[in-house]
Amino acid sequence: MATPVISAFLDGRHVSRPELRRFEKRDPATDTLIAEVEESDAALVDEAVQAALRAARGVAAAASADQRADWLLKIAGAIRRRFDAFVDAEVRDTGKPLSMVRSVEIPRAIATFETFAELLRTHRDDVVVTALPEGRRAVNMTTRLPHGVVAIICPWNFPLVLAVWKIAPALACGNAVVVKPSEETPSSVALLARVIEEIELPQGLFNVVYGFGQDSAGALLAAHPGVNALTFTGETRTGEAIMAAAARGVRPVSLELGGKNAAVVFGSAELDAAIEGSARSAFLNSGQVCFGTERIYVHRPLFERFVDGLSARAAALRMGDPLDPGTTMGPLISRRHRDKVLRACAVARDEGATVHTGGQAPAMSGRLAEGAWMEPTIWTGLDESSTIVRHEVFGPCCHIAPFDDEEEAVHLANDSEYGLAAALWSRDHAQALRVSARLRAGVVWVNAWGIRDLRTPFGGLGRSGIGREGGLASLDFYSQQRNVCSLV
Ligand code: NAD
Repeated sequence: MATPVISAFLDGRHVSRPELRRFEKRDPATDTLIAEVEESDAALVDEAVQAALRAARGVAAAASADQRADWLLKIAGAIRRRFDAFVDAEVRDTGKPLSMVRSVEIPRAIATFETFAELLRTHRDDVVVTALPEGRRAVNMTTRLPHGVVAIICPWNFPLVLAVWKIAPALACGNAVVVKPSEETPSSVALLARVIEEIELPQGLFNVVYGFGQDSAGALLAAHPGVNALTFTGETRTGEAIMAAAARGVRPVSLELGGKNAAVVFGSAELDAAIEGSARSAFLNSGQVCFGTERIYVHRPLFERFVDGLSARAAALRMGDPLDPGTTMGPLISRRHRDKVLRACAVARDEGATVHTGGQAPAMSGRLAEGAWMEPTIWTGLDESSTIVRHEVFGPCCHIAPFDDEEEAVHLANDSEYGLAAALWSRDHAQALRVSARLRAGVVWVNAWGIRDLRTPFGGLGRSGIGREGGLASLDFYSQQRNVCSLV
């Protein structure tokens, strides 16, 4: 069978050009070639932005909130109809276990479009009446204006979910979008372009370009003067480059960046629940979760039992064919990323870590032998100043350290340049409230991890990003409030 070719989508059609360079997309579970992707050049990125500009000034500007909500619901319906194809695209691009993609990721992509459609229908503009001297009044109408063209630059860890998390509210607010998926995971957004073509969404509202970051489609899109706002999820260093690009033209930017998230397990915690929750937060999606836990601090009396319990959970994870229902852990996104995680393991050993489990690439057999597999890894014994405790690894790895009292736990958890997420485990309600208020993170979970209601604000502190998205926070980013004041 011929290898599928993925090409840009703009102005409502797919554009393939023979002169474009192509890059390979390989299945990380097997390292086999699954698609070739045409890398969008400067001319194509420009055409995509121009198409979006025309749509933003035309059809999007003219559409009522109800019409825009209908567009979102039509997209949600189209994804639902092609559910299995979306599952297949995501599993092949990422190697994630089929069960997770089926039960979490594609349903969440659908729910995201539906949630923002609902928000759009129920959201009301504001009217304020100002009493003036001599009985006159002024009526203030505060309404929202779209930015125009929004550039959406995405990472590979939750390819469809993190793209629609931005596409849905951007379209809801009356913008047109140009999306640049990660070079590692082009397929599900390519399928989204197919279904958007099928449902005949007005031309130019949704456009996709493909390629890499620096010196490629990502940087070209971020620098394009026709882009009115930028939203980005990815590494902190890339976020700095995007923010510099956004500065030209003083354009709004939303940055959802890396983390080095802590969990704190207090003496009163329900130990099994804390172990179970920490196993999910450290190893879900092979540790490639921005709000995953890489540092765990455990009250000293529980320390050994916790380390043993988490090691047992790690040993129980089953790596294997993503399509096998018994598989609970997939590969990393690529062999290149696996090499990066293996280098971190070598650094951990050099820095004096005790390796409780993992630390290497497992020997897989048959068609999985060449995949980007990595064992779940647990370290203890590292100094808080070590590279591994300070920098994001973004693999199935965590470091566990003991603490003696609450003050020390808060200090250790907060001692990071990042501030995306934190989890705390305690049955003492007063302590849970006290400590949650002191943890320096955009999201704090108490006796839980990973619950994400689409209506709540999400984003990080410090090097984890700027801005909030989710629910009304998304409306605030994807539109600009303005006030019209009229004397009556
Ligand atoms: P990355 O920064 O390498 O790439 C993300 C995207 O940016 C890709 O599409 C890439 O092509 C593009 N890009 C790279 N350089 C660019 C440049 N100079 N200009 C414009 N675009 C550029 O990130 P990644 O490796 O894909 O994702 C993993 C990272 O994302 C981790 O650090 C993780 O913590 C973070 N992340 C954060 C969140 C969050 O919500 N805070 C969510 C998911 C992932």
